[in-house]
Amino acid sequence: MNAARRTTQTAFFALLLLAPQLELLRYDPEGHHLIVLGRPYGLGLAEALGSLSASEVAGTILLKAILPWLAVLALFPLLGFFLGRAFCGWLCPEGALFELYDHLSLRLLGRRDFFSPRRVGRARGPRWLLCAAGALLVLFALPVGVGLLLAGYFVPPQEVWAQVLQGTPSRGLLAALALLWLYMLVMGLLLRHRFCRWVCAPGLMQMLFGWLSPMSLRVQFQGLRHCTDCRRCEEVCFMEARPRGRREKDISCINCGLCVQACKRELGPRGALLRLGFGQPREDAMISKKPKEVF
Ligand code: SF4
Ligand code: SF4
Repeated sequence: MNAARRTTQTAFFALLLLAPQLELLRYDPEGHHLIVLGRPYGLGLAEALGSLSASEVAGTILLKAILPWLAVLALFPLLGFFLGRAFCGWLCPEGALFELYDHLSLRLLGRRDFFSPRRVGRARGPRWLLCAAGALLVLFALPVGVGLLLAGYFVPPQEVWAQVLQGTPSRGLLAALALLWLYMLVMGLLLRHRFCRWVCAPGLMQMLFGWLSPMSLRVQFQGLRHCTDCRRCEEVCFMEARPRGRREKDISCINCGLCVQACKRELGPRGALLRLGFGQPREDAMISKKPKEVF
């Protein structure tokens, strides 16, 4: 499951970065319109204003501006309604980066971040050096690469790369790279998944509608007595959702399935008490409904 999740996260990140380079989506500052799937996308009102009636102008604005924006705005509530916060766990590029920061912190410091209690043995010797080099790349080189690719959304990508190759980046490009670097540094060193939990607007929209989602984490009610109280499910949960928590449904859960895997490792694939389920629970119970005497 984790390999599948890494694949979807990587593919979506790549799509986000390459979309302007491949002309899938970007703004054309000269034409003052979007480029969508290689074709200019604009209202086209300036050219045809004299020949259009008031109702045709209103219809064009409704169809080409208002409805597409409503569709974009509805995307995250709909995702939350059907899949809970699965977008956060399976696609979100920022969430994937935070997981990478977590991984490097665990290897280098033996803890998930500066604020977490020390809990695992860190890497040693050459492995530690390798992780340290990876961390430096992630902190300093990655923001520059990401920034240059994202700049293509607002400036023609050829222009961005020409500035880089000639060594004459514009002030605007330098300022954008500096801001992105600062943002990623603060996120990477200080906030990480706390941002997902408390601040991210798409995440909060999915969280709100996720109450109604049929997809959720469940515990096998019948097998609760087999729980060894190893707490591995809690240790792997970077969202601090407490897989064995007491609430009816923890809407911080992003359906990543890490706790499910941890429980499988502890009790074996057949004995695992946690699973991601879709639809109405039958033999399962929500985690909060576990009998208190078991835990
Ligand atoms: S509770 Fe489990 S599925 Fe939900 S976020 Fe935590 S580890 Fe992932
Ligand atoms: S990983 Fe499974 S066995 Fe271990 S504490 Fe969590 S639910 Fe219990």
